[in-house]
Amino acid sequence: MIEQRRPNGSLRHLITLEDLRRDEIEALLQRAQHYARGVGQAPPGSERLRGVTIANLFTEPSTRTRVSFELAGRRLGAEVVNIEVQLSSRAKGESMLDTIYTLQALHFAVLVIRDAEPGVLAHVAAHVAAHVSVLSAGEAHLSHPTQGLLDALTVRQHKGSIAAQCIAIVGDIRHSRVARSAYQVFRALEARSLRLIGPPTLMPPAHEFPGCERFDTLEEGLAGVDVVMMLRIQKERIAQSDIPDTEEYFARYGLTAARLARAHPGAIVMHPQPMNRGVEIASDVADGPQSVIREQVSNGVAVRMAVLEAVAGNMAA
Ligand code: ASP
Repeated sequence: MIEQRRPNGSLRHLITLEDLRRDEIEALLQRAQHYARGVGQAPPGSERLRGVTIANLFTEPSTRTRVSFELAGRRLGAEVVNIEVQLSSRAKGESMLDTIYTLQALHFAVLVIRDAEPGVLAHVAAHVAAHVSVLSAGEAHLSHPTQGLLDALTVRQHKGSIAAQCIAIVGDIRHSRVARSAYQVFRALEARSLRLIGPPTLMPPAHEFPGCERFDTLEEGLAGVDVVMMLRIQKERIAQSDIPDTEEYFARYGLTAARLARAHPGAIVMHPQPMNRGVEIASDVADGPQSVIREQVSNGVAVRMAVLEAVAGNMAA
């Protein structure tokens, strides 16, 4: 695993939450809470990153993550440039590292990268100059650290201490980077219990997610939970023949109001989006009173501000 900290212990890269200590996570969440505002409200601006240039380099589709990294950088006074990868030199056959060295020569100090290939983020981080930070905006099925942090922030805002919560992660856990980062952050914050619910074909291998209880029906798995985290079937990471039929999937694993009634009455419903209404979640649940899905989106900006500030706050002009 790549060293994510500088020799003085400060955070330089954020590629995974796997080795983050509880106090480091708490500090990021506390700072994110400082920036967090209600749905539709802009976080307070600052000049903390004046003079810092950030590149958004996304080689897989993204709406929320790319836009919220961009807004987060701008709210902190940084310059943010979106690099359209299909227009960049990578499309002309140039290697990822050559693209990265070009950006480095152009004074980019933070590279926000989403890529479908496992290991690309660590590879880039191992090769960039000392003043450059690499932040993951989603790596293959492996990791989506800022999503994990915004999920933890959202649970905390509604429920208080994570340590008191029973959290269920539901759906295509096997191919989900959101599930892996959520697991890592909730484990680090010592959630009372973590449950995985999904069809056997979409469950992760036995050695992954140690310490979680596993269920193959929502009826059983949702009983008494405080947090229900729904996932999209990651069609782009599954062979066509293994993708479940959507109607059958909804019939067995879709979150309906009746199934949600099995959870604790105050349970919250989360989804990282994009959502497939009528596949993993019923529309009335997605838009219902227990849904915090829009709050997750606005917390994304606050969390990304906290992370950008942590890695680049000392570089500002
Ligand atoms: N937006 C999330 C991700 O990038 C979840 C998803 O795509 O299903 O992983």
